[in-house]
Amino acid sequence: MTILHDLNVDLHTHSKASDGSLSPSEVMERALSNDVDIVALTDHDTIEGVHEAMQYTEGKNIYFIPGVEISTSWAGVCIHVLGLNINPNDEQLKKSLSKIQDSRYTRAQLMDKDLTDKGFPSVIKDALEFAGGTGQVGRAHFARALIKKELCEDMREVFNKFLIKGKPGFVDHQWPSLKSVMEIIKKSKGLGVIAHPARYRLNYSMLTCLLEEFQELGGVGLEVSTGSHSALDIENFKRITNDFRFEGSRGSDFHCPNESRYDVGKAPYLPDSLLPIWSRWKAERVF
Ligand code: AMP
Ligand code: MN
Ligand code: MN
Ligand code: MN
Repeated sequence: MTILHDLNVDLHTHSKASDGSLSPSEVMERALSNDVDIVALTDHDTIEGVHEAMQYTEGKNIYFIPGVEISTSWAGVCIHVLGLNINPNDEQLKKSLSKIQDSRYTRAQLMDKDLTDKGFPSVIKDALEFAGGTGQVGRAHFARALIKKELCEDMREVFNKFLIKGKPGFVDHQWPSLKSVMEIIKKSKGLGVIAHPARYRLNYSMLTCLLEEFQELGGVGLEVSTGSHSALDIENFKRITNDFRFEGSRGSDFHCPNESRYDVGKAPYLPDSLLPIWSRWKAERVF
């Protein structure tokens, strides 16, 4: 246990720039009122909210990390990789992310077609409205649109009945490869961290393959404490993180006050035996 473990750190949050419901400033405001010491904004495939968050936190008692959560395809599985402390002015990064946004729009049309083909009403208009005109339209916006149409009561019901493999509205999308995404993150001087690793439900040999490849590609961390992990998931990934000599990360994956399991800064603390990824930024500032 070090003083670094005691810090309140949240390295995974979403704003309206992707599928969160609050503005970047409002997310930062929550971080401040919840006494967070270090916060990252990590919207899906976009850094459009980062400048606002950076401005909002400037001069305040919190350390801001510019970040992004990038969707990748690996062995047919969609893996989310957090790019932490990326350079938000990196033109190459912005260009690569805008290509993913274009592909999200195409996917949204296919998702809607799948819904209507299966006899459900079209919800793309509402989904795009929920996405607020950003190119970041995704499953969470479709989920909110399905709830608005009273096809489901809440997010949990949507993600049981729709938008997942084998259910209406699911499209098997091809995201950029893990390799190309890791190259983009590294070029932008960011740290690659696998988000919510338990969520992919990989068997042991697939998981080992993924983690070895990720490490070879320069990946440094695993998100051990996070909104979708159970206490058992945290225990398992604590062991795996140490076995592979990865660094541990902690993030709420906050999206929206009444949808998310944890508020900003409220995910379980990182287990003592892990090396916190935020120890890397210690030299930059005395926390
Ligand atoms: P996408 O990147 O468009 O495929 O959408 C993924 C997003 O959908 C996640 O980041 C969550 O916001 C949301 N999501 C996926 N699965 C669930 C779930 N089981 N419960 C609530 N939200 C979910
Ligand atoms: Mn999301
Ligand atoms: Mn994710
Ligand atoms: Mn997320």
